[in-house]
Amino acid sequence: MRVDRPSVCPLDCPDTCSLTVTVEEDRIVQIRGSRANSLTAGVICTKVARDFPDFVHGERRLLTPLRRVGRKGEGVFERISWDQALDLVHERVTAVVLEHGPQAVLPLNYAGPHGFLAYASMDLRFFHRLGASLLDRKPLCGGIRTEAWLGTFGPVPGIRPEQVALAKLVIAWGNNVTWSNLHLTSLINQARRRNGAKLVVVDPRRTKIAEQADLHVALRPGTDVVLAWAVTAELERRGGLDPEFIRRHVHGFEAYMARVREVRVADAARICGVPEAEIRQLAEWYQTLSPAAISVGNGLERNQNGGSGIRAVFALPALTGKLGVPGSGLVNGAGFAFPKTPGRLGRPDLAPPGTRTLNIVDVGAHLNDPTLRPPIKAVFIYNHNPLIVHPDQNRMRRGLVREDLFAVGCDVVMTDSMTYCDVVLPASSHFESHDLYPSYGHHWLQRAEPVIPPVGESLPNTEIFRRLAARFGFDGPIFRASDAELMDDAVDPADARLAGIPPSRLPTDRALAMTADGEDFVLFRSVFPKTPTGKVELESSYLAEKYGQPLPGYRLYESSYPLVLISPASDRRISSTFGGSKASDGTPPLEMHPEDAERRGLRSGTWVRVWNDLGEVHLPLKVTDVVPPGVVATFKGTWLRTSDNGQTVSALVPGHHADLSGGACFNDTRVEVAAYR
Ligand code: SF4
Repeated sequence: MRVDRPSVCPLDCPDTCSLTVTVEEDRIVQIRGSRANSLTAGVICTKVARDFPDFVHGERRLLTPLRRVGRKGEGVFERISWDQALDLVHERVTAVVLEHGPQAVLPLNYAGPHGFLAYASMDLRFFHRLGASLLDRKPLCGGIRTEAWLGTFGPVPGIRPEQVALAKLVIAWGNNVTWSNLHLTSLINQARRRNGAKLVVVDPRRTKIAEQADLHVALRPGTDVVLAWAVTAELERRGGLDPEFIRRHVHGFEAYMARVREVRVADAARICGVPEAEIRQLAEWYQTLSPAAISVGNGLERNQNGGSGIRAVFALPALTGKLGVPGSGLVNGAGFAFPKTPGRLGRPDLAPPGTRTLNIVDVGAHLNDPTLRPPIKAVFIYNHNPLIVHPDQNRMRRGLVREDLFAVGCDVVMTDSMTYCDVVLPASSHFESHDLYPSYGHHWLQRAEPVIPPVGESLPNTEIFRRLAARFGFDGPIFRASDAELMDDAVDPADARLAGIPPSRLPTDRALAMTADGEDFVLFRSVFPKTPTGKVELESSYLAEKYGQPLPGYRLYESSYPLVLISPASDRRISSTFGGSKASDGTPPLEMHPEDAERRGLRSGTWVRVWNDLGEVHLPLKVTDVVPPGVVATFKGTWLRTSDNGQTVSALVPGHHADLSGGACFNDTRVEVAAYR
């Protein structure tokens, strides 16, 4: 018998769609959008509808615990029982702890699933109690933007995406909404249809939404701060700043403007590689069109100036007084709309005082560092595919292949990273477990129950770490907490918006709006900055103290390699999730501008080698003007089977840090390209 059951998409995507899942004899046969969440309103992306059933039931699904019997990376395993697997993990990790101390153990997890429970709950309790090294995960993606937001506005939300429909100007800055923020596209279309809104897209690549825009500013990657400064300088010259709003609500105006005023439009045009007229047009529209909504995506954070670029864009509505009005401001900071209680959920207080914190971006370097004390001798890889998504893939591989490293893997399917693990534990997908879902792109809280029982012998992440905690002798109710109790620890049950309903009992057929006393969050109307000064901080004491960055800055990234390589998200994967699906079988093309191709004597269809000092990848060339001269692009997240030499685009990405959050700099990749075969 076929039945429809409600669920929620858990993937690393700002939209967190509500779903209807059709189940027949414990198998998922269809996934559609549902209307439980009025924002996502029955619409979902193609990849989830197409690929999720096979992800759950396909041939790559992990059905039992496994022990490695081949070489690391070879992918040869034998089946073992859960008892054997837990015993082996306990025995090997205990030996590491006895010889090197607990900090020689590292959880290497990221954001495969985004529900509170699967993402970071019982697992963190386990690692904190063990005394394992702590991992700062945000630098891999999103951390730079979050830190820029915290420094500028503090922990408060921006406008909810639905307000974009009210705008007369929408700016999608570094956000390929068609593929990575789907529901913003329909809100932009509503704004254009109803209000005649102008659409500006700032993106080095001519994405689909850029093709539809009234103005597409195809800037050179990593120069967003210069562009935003030039727009600000032009606004000041045109009388477009709001002195009264600035006087009352902005901190650090003069110090900030001292930098801005050094930027002439002509200089910015040269640095950013865009016509002066486009900078002036953007400034004119930003001055004259209100309400104006800006959505800052992840694209502009992935370089050494990433935090500065985002801060300079965040400054625009404050300098022009375009806050406090519905439909105006920034569609960012959604995560701060939820009453999260991470201290109760993950129990960081259990970690011994002085436990070191490692930046996730540096894990590959640490795994290869003979001077690191204590060395990393055991890793737990879960919710993550580090071999595919970390910068400097070859360095990560050299780390994971170490025979003296004990690696525990935990995933739904056999990934490239799992093949390097000594023990692989089969995790249930979110369709097989309970969870509660916040979002980083909208203001709706959602809960989902399992729609099918665990496939094979798989277990939810929470149960896997409950069993590990018991094996390690971690006693006490917090290690036995049920999934319902964990949900009740994930958000504040006393928050008025829950109306007394425990989080674990929220209805699954509708989403709960996160509002400010029933009103939409609108900065300077229903919510105010929570910075040290209570103002919008263009000069930030928080960022000065944490990163030595009181003000945004710009540094030229220098390299002997001539081309900038960007590697944005594709429409076939969420980062590397679904990289094992049929739709991801092919090797993605390298897009190159005709001028760059001609200079190298290259034609579309030619296989090219793309290289720098870190590695080399082989890709089919696509000569196209969707990228500007000097910039080449390919898509991130493909698995090793798409490569003929065991390297994908991450092999070319340098491991240095951005100006905020110690963040990854994917777009600082510089390469040369030549014919390969
Ligand atoms: S990946 Fe994003 S757009 Fe696609 S179903 Fe999930 S939340 Fe919705």
